[in-house]
Amino acid sequence: MALSNSQYNAVMREYEQQQIKDRHDRDRRLAEVYRRIPQIEQLDRDISTRAAACARRVLGGDPDAHRRLKEDLADLREQKETLLAAAGFPADYLEMRYHCKDCKDTGYIDGRRCHCFERARIQILYAQSNIQDVLKRENFSTFSFAYFDDTQVVPGLGMTELAYMKLVFRRCQEFAKSFPEKGANILFTGTTGVGKTFLTNCIAKELIDRYVSVIYLSSHDLFEIFSRYKFSREAGEDVEETYRHILDCELLIIDDLGTEVNNTFVSSQLFYCVNERINRKKGTIISTNLTMDMLRDTYSDRVTSRIMSHYVTIPLYGGDIRMKKKQTSRD
Ligand SMILES: [Zn+2]
Repeated sequence: MALSNSQYNAVMREYEQQQIKDRHDRDRRLAEVYRRIPQIEQLDRDISTRAAACARRVLGGDPDAHRRLKEDLADLREQKETLLAAAGFPADYLEMRYHCKDCKDTGYIDGRRCHCFERARIQILYAQSNIQDVLKRENFSTFSFAYFDDTQVVPGLGMTELAYMKLVFRRCQEFAKSFPEKGANILFTGTTGVGKTFLTNCIAKELIDRYVSVIYLSSHDLFEIFSRYKFSREAGEDVEETYRHILDCELLIIDDLGTEVNNTFVSSQLFYCVNERINRKKGTIISTNLTMDMLRDTYSDRVTSRIMSHYVTIPLYGGDIRMKKKQTSRD
């Protein structure tokens, strides 16, 4: 995805700062060398004097000046290298040292973004997602099936909890893999601790690593931002930008819908957000403890019917995994 203007500017500012630091570090090394080996400063002066004299001779029509200068400079450089080595400095001590050698800390190589730019971009995406740290712990590779029962067939499901979770897990992987081609949205339902947030995080990590812009917000925080955007006079650029990102990021995660303080404003904003993102063909994952009927009662018919027609509903069953984890670690 494209970075927003202010994100792009922030990355470019970092490159400028890095370049300033590179030059500063090189100047510091040079000053140190001049202090320890004054002859080198003298040699450098000779080099500039000769280069200037050569430029004058070339302008004056001397065709051979350039070749002679080259020989002179090669000789002076050799003297410098010998002096440096004799004082115990590495041969490249006075060269520029870049954080990224490939683009010389400009972020670009022949007009194309360097790999280090891509890395900066992914860091911004992680920071923007709000779940940077949790994604290290909760992702497809750390998901554990150990907490799901494989002994009893769940009535109504026709399979065990474990068999069902394996299906759900595959479904989530497929969602991430095909994102955003199919433009799908997910609604995770189920009681607390059945793995809704964990599975959402698995998908988020997978997508951010592919440079998809993801924003995670608890429903409380989401409506808080909407309300500040609408009602607060001093909302400022930050809130405006977050608001735009919420409507525009490639994947929006709304966690724990139904736990916010509900009112008509919340209801109308939820419809606006869900509807706007469907129209813009942006993916959304919502997780909630509420059933479909409760969703309809809490919000409105129109938002529930938008969700039912554009989201894949994945109900999760079973007991509280967090409780089971605690129990196992105690056993
Ligand atoms: Zn680079």
